[in-house]
Amino acid sequence: MSNRLPFTVQRSRGKLELKPSSGGLISALGPALRTRGGTWIGWPGIELRKGEELPAGDEPYAIAPVSLSESEVNRYYHGFSNGALWPLCHSLPARAVFDRRDWQTYERVNKRFAAAALPTAGSGLVWVHDYHLMLVPEFLRREAPNARLAFFLHIPFPPWDIFRLLPWSRDVLGGILACDLIGFHVDGYVQNFLDCVEKRLGARVDRTEGLIDYAGRVVRVGSFPLGIDFELFDERSRQAPPARESRNGERVVLGVDRLDYTKGIPDRIKAFERLLELYPSHRGKVVMLQLAVPSRSQLADYRDLKREIDELVGRVNGRFATATWSPIRYLYRAVPPERLATMYRDADVGLVTPLRDGMNLVAKEYVACQVDDPGVLVLSELAGAAATMREAIQVNPYNLDETAEAIHRALTMEEPERRSRIASLRRRERRDNVEAWVGLFLDEATAGAAELTPLTDEEVESWLGPFLKEYRLALFLDYDGTLTPLVDHPDAAVLSPPVRKLLRTLVDREDTEVGIVSGRSIDNVENMVGLKDVTYAGNHGLEVRAPDLPDFQHEDVEHYRGRIADLAEALDEVCSDGAWVEQKGHTLTWHYRPVTGDPMPLAERAREIIIEAGFQARDAHLAVEARPPIGWDKGRAVLHVLRSRHGPSWPEHVRVIYIGDDQTDEDAFRIFHGMAATFRVGPTGTDTAADRRLPNVEAVIAILRWLAQRKPTP
Ligand code: UDP
Repeated sequence: MSNRLPFTVQRSRGKLELKPSSGGLISALGPALRTRGGTWIGWPGIELRKGEELPAGDEPYAIAPVSLSESEVNRYYHGFSNGALWPLCHSLPARAVFDRRDWQTYERVNKRFAAAALPTAGSGLVWVHDYHLMLVPEFLRREAPNARLAFFLHIPFPPWDIFRLLPWSRDVLGGILACDLIGFHVDGYVQNFLDCVEKRLGARVDRTEGLIDYAGRVVRVGSFPLGIDFELFDERSRQAPPARESRNGERVVLGVDRLDYTKGIPDRIKAFERLLELYPSHRGKVVMLQLAVPSRSQLADYRDLKREIDELVGRVNGRFATATWSPIRYLYRAVPPERLATMYRDADVGLVTPLRDGMNLVAKEYVACQVDDPGVLVLSELAGAAATMREAIQVNPYNLDETAEAIHRALTMEEPERRSRIASLRRRERRDNVEAWVGLFLDEATAGAAELTPLTDEEVESWLGPFLKEYRLALFLDYDGTLTPLVDHPDAAVLSPPVRKLLRTLVDREDTEVGIVSGRSIDNVENMVGLKDVTYAGNHGLEVRAPDLPDFQHEDVEHYRGRIADLAEALDEVCSDGAWVEQKGHTLTWHYRPVTGDPMPLAERAREIIIEAGFQARDAHLAVEARPPIGWDKGRAVLHVLRSRHGPSWPEHVRVIYIGDDQTDEDAFRIFHGMAATFRVGPTGTDTAADRRLPNVEAVIAILRWLAQRKPTP
């Protein structure tokens, strides 16, 4: 699945005509689908009329068109994809425009693409491509939980400090994390992505193996540098007509780009101007041939860029041209493939200096076309290609003097060095060609499930060591799902002896205090834990019992005591098929775990009954909880304990850790955000206010073990 189909459809005099699309992605995936079979899902480039079918093309695979209206194309494609994600991912945030309506259309269009993939999602891999479609995997996963999904990003993934500017950063990360495999061009982008996932979503990552633990699944992440159809370019340049004699020994420095501000064309022209200033010997003998392919001219930034380049070319030519020579030859158009191969072959220098580029295929194509007397590649170190193309002369494209010197060096490089460099570059590109890339990615995408190693002490130390240093620890833990796995009946959630022992060790430490915060009644939770010198908060914090504090009960609770019995009675109506009510004093929980059929209509009715009775209805694990509508929750209860015990300036000497697995723990995560280290346990999606996520009770135990063994705070 990609934004574009391998062809673009045009309507001429009422008839639909197909025109082949071009670009790296198309040439990579076309052959892959042709040999393996499958379906290409994408936008045909026009809005199809009702009932209108695409004319049959000559592809031996199926085509599933996703029709978009003009306003959708404006907001989803020009707006969010090219106006927000493109500049942001290329680390040029000042150019990004964040518009909520663009985002909403992007969401809607991504949903439509997902729906188009649904019929095939069960039968094989769905491979989603590029930044236009980053929400598709999550939408697909919701409908097809067992589908095999993979994503490849063809542009850079920026560092956290840039990516965090995106108002919808959480959604975009969550969107692709629904995949089994996520691919980037180079390891730098992988590391940026892992940073963002860790920092924005609090997910656990394994940097060496490239694994992410997220929403109950393990996602693989890796670098897969895109290659080209090497033999095709090699062949084309061999077939190309010999260079024209009329060149008069003129040397050519070649630039080939889409007209895009990421390509650094103005800087390149200025660097060439600098070359002519620094080395007058090149005047009259060297020309810069710049091909700029028209692109995205709907966007103002692109039109401005065109004007800027026109002016620059005019200025430099005006400054240096003679009656018989102009320094810059500028073509604003696309050229046919054969002509392009000739241009590559005959250029003495391939000048590829983007300010930022996911990979840059031009650099690779230039190398593939150096068939006899080879030229020299000057390559921006900010292109993904620089990660592997070490033998190119690499430059910082923002440094005009360095780039000018590099061009000079390339123009004066002796043959043995030129041949050696190009030989290494060609060998690599011939081997790591596009076919190898497809194979590598598909092998990884269809590999078996990956697993993260259990949480290590070193990891916990890196999370909590500096945070706790020289502070007293106040550790607050939810009970069900945090200290014990979730089970069918609350009575069966028995604390295991080793966990009780760990808690005992923690309680006995001078520098640590332990609180258990539960939705259970206070007697019940104290009974289940069975430890003295622990603070217990029951009924989501409405009651608190601590060894050193007066018992606390919220003042409004009494008022609701009688009404909760009436509510329990009213809930009889939904206590069918095994559903049952757990009475907890001031609150109650209606459990629907045993229900075998669809419990949702029943749960909906239960919520209504609870609200009609004047209580709040809160969704819990396979249950709905009724709570008095009192502005009080687990977070406020914990804050009450800390203030009562340590005074209002408690943060000066106490550090809080809060671990919970439930929606009701989110109140605590929110109230302590920035003031505590918070952990959400279990397979949760994007919606947690906790700092970090833990997959299961074992991970909680690993943290407790580290806390129990840590060096004492004096
Ligand atoms: N290209 C083209 N027509 C032209 C000039 C170039 O189709 O007139 C192709 C070029 O062969 C290359 C692609 O455009 O495959 C540019 O890919 P690159 O990765 O360098 O940059 P992108 O445009 O994808 O940002």
